[in-house]
Amino acid sequence: MIKKIDHLGVAVLDPERALATYRDALGLRLDQIEDIPSQKLVSYHLAIGESHIELLHPTEEDSVIGKYLAKKGPGIHHVALQVDDIEAERDRLSAAGLEPLTAEPFIGANGKKVLFFHPRTTGGILLEICQVVEEE
Ligand code: ZN
Repeated sequence: MIKKIDHLGVAVLDPERALATYRDALGLRLDQIEDIPSQKLVSYHLAIGESHIELLHPTEEDSVIGKYLAKKGPGIHHVALQVDDIEAERDRLSAAGLEPLTAEPFIGANGKKVLFFHPRTTGGILLEICQVVEEE
């Protein structure tokens, strides 16, 4: 089951400038700054109700977000939907014709299990599904 929009991932070149917009001008609360070395990025989580905007800033040009910025410039990178059972949703959406980028979910920001679907199968949006993993 799909529960809600978990977050929008926004690729940014200049985090200070982006924070001036999202935190200072829009007034969103900066909940967390997370360094994700495995993806060579820093993520800034700004709360909007039960959802977030995640500003994604690459720490290296040779990274997924770095390459995205070089090609397309700053802007919305992906839309993330929270699900209750990521493997079941992967199977259900794959059967419906959406193409997963990886066979298995992996651990993303905040320790969530995440999986992406190719934009050519989702109407042009890089679509993420994510599942909150309960603390043991
Ligand atoms: Zn995401």
